[in-house]
Amino acid sequence: MYILDMAGKKPKFQKEKQIFTEYIQKSGLRHTAQRDVILEIFLRTEAHLSSEDLYWLVQKEDQSVGHTTVYRTLKLLTEAGLAREVRFGDGKTYYEHHYEHAHHDHMICTECGKVIEFFSAEIEALQDEMADKFGFKPTHHSLRILGLCEDCQKRDSATAASGAQPRVRVRSVVGN
Ligand SMILES: [Zn+2]
Ligand SMILES: [Zn+2]
Ligand SMILES: [Zn+2]
Repeated sequence: MYILDMAGKKPKFQKEKQIFTEYIQKSGLRHTAQRDVILEIFLRTEAHLSSEDLYWLVQKEDQSVGHTTVYRTLKLLTEAGLAREVRFGDGKTYYEHHYEHAHHDHMICTECGKVIEFFSAEIEALQDEMADKFGFKPTHHSLRILGLCEDCQKRDSATAASGAQPRVRVRSVVGN
């Protein structure tokens, strides 16, 4: 059985929901309505979300869902291969879509928290080459480039010139 959206149109995220249901069953967990809500909102949101971010998005639709449930569900989504953990250097863990989303790396603005996604076949190939050279078998990687985005360079070139290591503050998708 598939969950239809409100308008009764074609089921959305059918494949993702099926993967999650199978994972839940395999893990011997119960199917819960709260997890469904969390999954739905996660899939709808194309962004880098911390568990707090997702919690606040879920709160707008279902106030009975607690933070711990959101956190645990994100862990399950990651194990099921639907989500992927990303870290941007601000000490927090963010989650983004993984299933049928091509590999990419990130540039993070340390001033405004903007995150730019990029992919370079050349960089990827060079990383493999380097691993080869050291007899290293890579399983996954995340390349993170920290710096200032175009806007922030224009806004305050004075801060950039100070040489101080700025703290990373990733911009939240909630309340911005
Ligand atoms: Zn990469
Ligand atoms: Zn910026
Ligand atoms: Zn990303």
